[in-house]
Amino acid sequence: MSGVGSDAVSDRELVVLGTASQAPTRRRNHNGYLLRWDGEGLLFDPGEGTQRQMIFAGVTVSQITRICITHFHGDHCLGLPGVLQRMSLDRVPHVVDACYPAQNREVFTRLRHAALFHDVVNLRERPVDGGGTVLQAAAFRVEAEPLSHGVPAIGYRLVEPDGRRMLPDRLAAFGITGPDVGRLQRQGSLAVGDQVVGLEQVSEPRPGQRFAFVMDTRLCDAAFALADGADMLVCESTFANAEAALARNYGHLTAGQAGQIAAQAGARLLVLTHFSQRYEHGPDGDQRLAGEAAAAFGGEVVLARDLDRIPVPARRAEAEVS
Ligand SMILES: [Zn+2]
Repeated sequence: MSGVGSDAVSDRELVVLGTASQAPTRRRNHNGYLLRWDGEGLLFDPGEGTQRQMIFAGVTVSQITRICITHFHGDHCLGLPGVLQRMSLDRVPHVVDACYPAQNREVFTRLRHAALFHDVVNLRERPVDGGGTVLQAAAFRVEAEPLSHGVPAIGYRLVEPDGRRMLPDRLAAFGITGPDVGRLQRQGSLAVGDQVVGLEQVSEPRPGQRFAFVMDTRLCDAAFALADGADMLVCESTFANAEAALARNYGHLTAGQAGQIAAQAGARLLVLTHFSQRYEHGPDGDQRLAGEAAAAFGGEVVLARDLDRIPVPARRAEAEVS
């Protein structure tokens, strides 16, 4: 995929709507994440209260183009009825894809029809059975992998293919303008006067970006696969390292394991979320989780807070791509 522009950092950011697992706290709403990606808005795991958190965060339901649900525990989906009904109220005109574990299709149906409303939402259900590519957009694809939790659960990742960045000064030097630029991108070469100009002469490699979303799971291969080479990895870290046995029994990760996934997968920015309420207070509270993840991961760790806007890191330079 080639393109001019669309490199602005602010076009790609994670809007954090909620960060609590199981029970919300005074500071943390249940889960909810809107990934703003160029003109798209991917809503992940809308927990209870998502509609109102969106108002606090300054985003609207009309910005949502896709909905991705990892599993149907309440903290990941009880906000869906409100969001869908608000979309209907606001007459959101565009098609919205909704991905969720296919085994629990009836739960999705119940949530969609949890209350009575005049339903004009243009929803396209995409039940996910197994893994692989589940959504294909013009500029990216969304892949899913089954995770290891107590109920059917899937993780997601958004993959932008590698492309080439057109260089305006080189194009100008060859006198290539207007529709010829697109023609050269599509064809790979273009006859200009008595010479043939190759795409590589007027462009440079532009590494594609990746975003990974790993929620409720115990440590498993799929978590590493999803996080592979992610520019931003959003990862649950329900427990501190001391509660590793508890984490494993309940199908969750510790902060240290989240760091381990980020390190082994070569992720660049690790965003921790989905915290147990037990870390709300205490000597160093949830900062302890960030420290434990950082100890296992050499890169940057962000402890997500409700209503944070976290930019997707700028593209890797070409030299960083192996
Ligand atoms: Zn769960």
